[in-house]
Amino acid sequence: MKVYVMVGAPGAGKGTQAEILSERVGLPHIASGELFREAMRDGTRLGEQVKSYISRGALVPDELAIKVIAARLARPDAAEGAILDGFPRTRPQAEVLDAALARRGAHVAAALFIGIAEDALLRRLSGRWICQEAGHAYHEIDRPPRVAGVCDEDGSPLYQRPDDRPDTVRARLAQQLPPMYEVIDYYNEQGVLTPVDGEGPVEGVADALVRAIDSTRLAPRGGRELRQPAR
Ligand SMILES: [Zn+2]
Repeated sequence: MKVYVMVGAPGAGKGTQAEILSERVGLPHIASGELFREAMRDGTRLGEQVKSYISRGALVPDELAIKVIAARLARPDAAEGAILDGFPRTRPQAEVLDAALARRGAHVAAALFIGIAEDALLRRLSGRWICQEAGHAYHEIDRPPRVAGVCDEDGSPLYQRPDDRPDTVRARLAQQLPPMYEVIDYYNEQGVLTPVDGEGPVEGVADALVRAIDSTRLAPRGGRELRQPAR
C-alpha cells in the first residue's frame, strides 16, 4: 500500500490539495480531524475514547489517534493506500505512524511538503477583513474590496477579527511551525521528503504533487537523493 502524508503550514492548502490528489490518483483522502468526528458520531469504542478527550478540549493522545487511523487504513477502500492529512503534526506522531505501518509491512511512500515562505503565509492568513454591517468577508489577496477598507455591498467599514490580525497570526505560526519543521526533518532523514512549491495557483500545485507521486511509484524507497527542507 502507498501511504502519502501531507505536510505543510496552516494556510498552505493541505486539505484542498489532498482532496484534489485523492480524485486524481484514486486513493482515499483521510483527514484526521474528520476521522475523529466520524468516530465520535459512530459511537465505536475508539470513538468514545476520542470523545473523552475532545469533549474536554484536550488533544487526542498519539497512541489513540494512531489506533483510529490504523482502523481507517484497514478498510477496503484504503487497500491500495491513502492520503493522510492532519496527521502527523509532530515527530513523535510521525514515528508512531511509521511503527503502525511497519506492522502491516507498509511505509510512508512520500511526505508531500507544500512549501510556502513564511511571509507569504502571513499574508494569506492575516488578509481577512469583515464588514461591520453584515459580515461580508474580504481577503487582501483572494478577494480585495474595490475600495480598501470599505464593503462593496453596503459601504460599511471593514475590520479585522483579533484572530486574523498579523500579530496574532505571527504568534500562532511561531507555535505551529517548529513541530512541522521537525516532521520535515524526520521525513528527510527517512529519504521520503518530497517538497513542492506551494505558492502558485491551486491547479499548478496539484500538478506538481501528482508528478511527485508518479515519481515515487518508479523509485525504490531511499533511492532518491536527500533534499534539505526549505526554511
Ligand atoms: Zn458588507
